[in-house]
Amino acid sequence: MVLSRVAREIQASATLAITAKAKQLAAEGKDVIGFGAGEPDFDTPENIKTAAIKAIKDGFTKYTPTSGTPKLKEAICEKLFKENNLKYSPSQILVSAGAKQSICNIVLVLCDIGDEVIIPTPYWVSYPEMVTLAGAKPVFLETNDKDHFKITKDSLASVITPKTKLLFLNSPSNPTGMVYSEEELREIVLFAVEKGLYVISDEIYEKILYDGVKHFSPAAINDDCYNNVITINGFSKVYSMTGWRLGYAAGPETIIKAATNIQDHTTSGASSITQIAGLEALRGNQDSVNNMVAEFDRRRKYIVDRLNAMKGISCLLPQGAFYAFPNVSGLYNHLSVKGSFDLVSLLLEKAHVAFVPGAPFGADAYIRISYATSMENIKKGMDRFEKFLQT
Ligand SMILES: *Cc1c(COP(=O)(O)O)cnc(C)c1O
Repeated sequence: MVLSRVAREIQASATLAITAKAKQLAAEGKDVIGFGAGEPDFDTPENIKTAAIKAIKDGFTKYTPTSGTPKLKEAICEKLFKENNLKYSPSQILVSAGAKQSICNIVLVLCDIGDEVIIPTPYWVSYPEMVTLAGAKPVFLETNDKDHFKITKDSLASVITPKTKLLFLNSPSNPTGMVYSEEELREIVLFAVEKGLYVISDEIYEKILYDGVKHFSPAAINDDCYNNVITINGFSKVYSMTGWRLGYAAGPETIIKAATNIQDHTTSGASSITQIAGLEALRGNQDSVNNMVAEFDRRRKYIVDRLNAMKGISCLLPQGAFYAFPNVSGLYNHLSVKGSFDLVSLLLEKAHVAFVPGAPFGADAYIRISYATSMENIKKGMDRFEKFLQT
């Protein structure tokens, strides 16, 4: 059987093997502590659940417009205006079944076969695959902990070619927790747009910020940026709604209209019930978000202190999201492991702690440690990690 180009080129998630191994150990009765979660460990807030139940009871269970209900799109416009200084009309909003679907639609709208797309590393694992799906070529722009995982105007200039079409930005970042300042974003995005690039600004961790750091949406810089930046956001992380599947894109009407056409013929968009829940998330009480972030903050400080106290490990203090991304390459020689996959396998087998290797994020010197798990688990897991390194 000869499978299609897309089927041949799209990779299965490289972290699946580790997850499978962790599950197998757990099934054998071993108490494995997981740090792999890419989602908050908090329940969806009660007011949001109640709104969804009411939607079902009211019979709001039919197709909605592909790009989202008028009410939800208006609420999104209101949010973008109030919080992000961005003025959009509902015709510039595409609501999707998760931010992931919005991003994929936008990539398909903007990229032709042979176009180049700049993806800073470490990156969210789906970006390169979406680019490949469109027949375009991912071009990786490396960053590391020494430069705080940040690209600059100069590093960007070094990888732009006549074929470059699009730049991915993700602040706050999964997997590093890095957050760009407004000043940094102004410099990078002004330059990118001046060079004629489009920019996808993935802002899904927007409200998960620490130490008084402020979020900034680069589409708000000036008219040129407004015309070339597509802002992505969603409900999965901030409202603990990963399973509900709800996200959106905001941008120029022509791009949004074309992305809506693609969605028209693939999924028809987000569920009607989920969209009612999303409306409540945006308009309802925000206490649950603040409480969640306060708890993440406590865990963040604890976990980074513990990691930095271990020999051979150095970890920056993340300013956003819920991941620590320590440099563990100092352990590789000492433990005779070849890279992040080997290290993570060894730790799983010997210490029963499950981390995510950095390699699938394009950064083999690191591992990703999600602190979307209880403080008790974090303490136990860090004790095991430390004890393993001492033996
Ligand atoms: C989780 C995540 C998304 C997508 O989330 P959805 O559940 O599809 O809304 C997008 N970008 C990043 C960086 C993420 O971590």
